[in-house]
Amino acid sequence: MKSQDIRNTFLDFFEKKEHLIVPSAPMVVKNDPTLMFVNSGMAPFKEYFLGNSEPKKNRISDTQKCLRVSGKHNDLEEVGYDTYHHTLFEMLGNWSFGDYFKKEAIAWAWELLTEVYGIDKDLLYVTVFEGSDDADNLKMDTEAYDIWKQYIAEDRILKGNKKDNFWEMGDQGPCGPCSEIHVDIRSAEEKAKVDGKTLVNMDHPQVVEIWNLVFMQYNRKANGSLEVLPNKHIDTGMGFERLCMVLQGVQSNYDTDVFTPIIREIETITNSSYGKDEKVDVAIRVISDHVRAVAFSIADGQLPSNTGAGYVIRRILRRAIRYGFTFLNQKEPFIYKLTETLSNQMGDAFPELKSQERLIENVIKEEENSFLRTLDQGLLLLDKVIDDSKDKTIDGAKAFELYDTYGFPLDLTQLIAREKGYSVNEEGFKTEMQKQKDRSRAASASETSDWVILKEDDTEEFIGYDTLTADVKLTRYRKVTSKKDGEHYQLVFNMTPFYPEGGGQVGDKGYIEVPNGDVVYITDTKKENNVIIHITKNLPSDLDDTFKAMVSDEHRRLSASNHTATHLLHQALRTILGTHVEQKGSLVKPASLRFDFSHFSKVDADQLQEIEDFVNARIRENLELEEYRNIPMQQALDKGAIALFGEKYGDSVRAIKFGQSMELCGGTHVQNTGDIWYFKIKSESAIAAGIRRIEAITNVAVGDYFEDVEKQFESIKSVLKNSNEPVKAVQALQDENANLKKQIEALLKDKAKNLKGELKNEISEVNGVQFLAKKVDLDGAGIKDLCFDLGSNMDNLFLLFGSETNGKAILSCYISKELVAAKDLNAGNIVRELGKHIQGGGGGQPFFATAGGKNPAGIDAALDSAKSYIE
Ligand code: ATP
Ligand code: MG
Repeated sequence: MKSQDIRNTFLDFFEKKEHLIVPSAPMVVKNDPTLMFVNSGMAPFKEYFLGNSEPKKNRISDTQKCLRVSGKHNDLEEVGYDTYHHTLFEMLGNWSFGDYFKKEAIAWAWELLTEVYGIDKDLLYVTVFEGSDDADNLKMDTEAYDIWKQYIAEDRILKGNKKDNFWEMGDQGPCGPCSEIHVDIRSAEEKAKVDGKTLVNMDHPQVVEIWNLVFMQYNRKANGSLEVLPNKHIDTGMGFERLCMVLQGVQSNYDTDVFTPIIREIETITNSSYGKDEKVDVAIRVISDHVRAVAFSIADGQLPSNTGAGYVIRRILRRAIRYGFTFLNQKEPFIYKLTETLSNQMGDAFPELKSQERLIENVIKEEENSFLRTLDQGLLLLDKVIDDSKDKTIDGAKAFELYDTYGFPLDLTQLIAREKGYSVNEEGFKTEMQKQKDRSRAASASETSDWVILKEDDTEEFIGYDTLTADVKLTRYRKVTSKKDGEHYQLVFNMTPFYPEGGGQVGDKGYIEVPNGDVVYITDTKKENNVIIHITKNLPSDLDDTFKAMVSDEHRRLSASNHTATHLLHQALRTILGTHVEQKGSLVKPASLRFDFSHFSKVDADQLQEIEDFVNARIRENLELEEYRNIPMQQALDKGAIALFGEKYGDSVRAIKFGQSMELCGGTHVQNTGDIWYFKIKSESAIAAGIRRIEAITNVAVGDYFEDVEKQFESIKSVLKNSNEPVKAVQALQDENANLKKQIEALLKDKAKNLKGELKNEISEVNGVQFLAKKVDLDGAGIKDLCFDLGSNMDNLFLLFGSETNGKAILSCYISKELVAAKDLNAGNIVRELGKHIQGGGGGQPFFATAGGKNPAGIDAALDSAKSYIE
């Protein structure tokens, strides 16, 4: 069965079991500080499990893009070395939110695997949770055991410990026992030798877990205790690539049709072959895996960068580049060439790969180029480290610097060192690594207490599109202590006018007023797993009061102005530069706006002017806001609304329209484009290959800007003695300056000519050599000219000149070529020795050399000893 059919069969099966099929959520997580990337199928549904919002249906199924390269799940270092762990993989899943539980989950998993996919029962093992005698004191999951018994022989049901059979989302939150399904795809011969049972969960490449059924029945609280959940849930995850391996009868995920087209392409491009040499195979697996992770991230809007999620992506790509560099001998960019194959192969299931193929290709190519340069520098540094090493070992701290700054992992440094007969101090490396981990843990450490629930009013209503003030009641709060923000509280209200950070727009600020007139300031508003959280230093005195919530009017008004201007800018770019322009990021705050977009060349000054004029024309048209709240996604798209890749949209969306501009958007906007006043572009730049950034201002900021410009202009005029024509005045100054320069050059030439004449007379014969050692008043270049000038007129010349400029000493030595040979003299050696007098050093060629030093007082001594060289 082809992988495409395997995926569809899964989804069809659960659709028939009344599940709603939903598309994969974007891989990069935006609304959850505890998670950078989706790392399991359940992550996009966290808000349902936490009870923060209601799913559209209580049975859902999908295939979810997952990335396991950071945090709790990090498989990165395994990838390439084994045959069944990837960075990016698809997790097929089915979910019950308070609906069916263990009985159905197990029955359907079994039916799908054995009857629909036709996997032989004798290949399968299952595990159940054995219980724990630690603080949780949990009993064995006999419920699951008894259900499994109906389908599979009891000697194939294995009991597992907490590590393998108790699943937790994080330190806090829903959790529960799980049952894994494993397959044994070894040959009959192997099976006869070793019983499959003993290999389950033992990291055997042919006895692997394919599916995990999690039975969520507890909630883990901040103090570590467990409480039983009122509603029980099912969360299952099956590795798509591993399932393909089983169904296609191969022994490695990389031999399935998910990977073979990319591997063939790598073989062609790099002129290598897969399956002959383990080192080459590892490299090919690494590259075929990593290119997928990187391409999917870029398609989701996450570009490689120096921080956060972008940095993780950069490191994945660099890992691939390194393996290509070291084991496939690729010194030029080549990974970008795989983009097309990938998009042809996966583009049907993930259309974002197709539509952004060119961008993905460009970004990868540029990253490859710049990292290959870094690699070169790193190799030079490594050479130097090796040269400097006295005991044939490389210091752990140096190896760590190579790792941290140049992306050289320890194994690469070791490999290169070994080739030269050196070893690396591994302990030292590990110590440095640990130090860095401790530093970053300390920097991000935070402590979050459980929510204190005041009212069971879970659905918090956002009313901030219509009003900036409201009477609100606190429904829950918690205390958070973090290194970054110190100790603070997070408040949740029954309703709120505060806009939470999102869609590029910063969160609202403001205050809540308690009945006695005191105020508590809200310093920021955020959304976390679909709950709006208000950040404050202090709790209100009486938590049960009704508070008056007030959003800062100015903060909101200016943010709205910049947000609407951002939409108009987007429209202008697509109109003037073309519809290939796609939003790649935006930041909307009261003071300014920033907009990143795909475009392949610099936007020139004329185009920028045109863009600015376009936006200002829309502002002057006084276009009214047309807002469509809660309309079906498809209806919005049919009306021409623009949606962004990498955004997680609900089933019903909000669309914002001003004239011809229409976007899906949750942000806040002005009522009329006239409220923006004026739009001014401040800068245009590149932030990555194929991605440009425009920074701009609107509203009062434009007034401030022009005021500044005017002030500067006035001060320029006053420097120019209040000339009424400052441009002419500056031009006159420039002309005058150019004239003066010419005159100075002519004077200097004259001076050198005179000097030459004088010096010629001072040259005396010593031991048959025309000799002169003297201090002169010329710079380095002037002395050089002088030496060669004298040298072209006289033979057997030995000259040593000293000079002083800006407190620094220079010694220059010239020796006629015939003297160099006849008397075995070397100007380079001479200046190096004499350089000691001026506390400096230098060198050059045997007939001309220069030394610089910081002690002009030593010049005379140096000149005095010159004669000794020819005596
Ligand atoms: P393993 O022990 O093999 O690493 P896991 O216990 O980490 O698996 P789960 O977190 O339960 O796996 O994920 C559910 C399923 O997703 C697994 O049964 C497996 O089929 C698949 N899976 C997990 N990690 C990876 C990965 N890195 N690459 C490919 N598939 C994976
Ligand atoms: Mg794992």
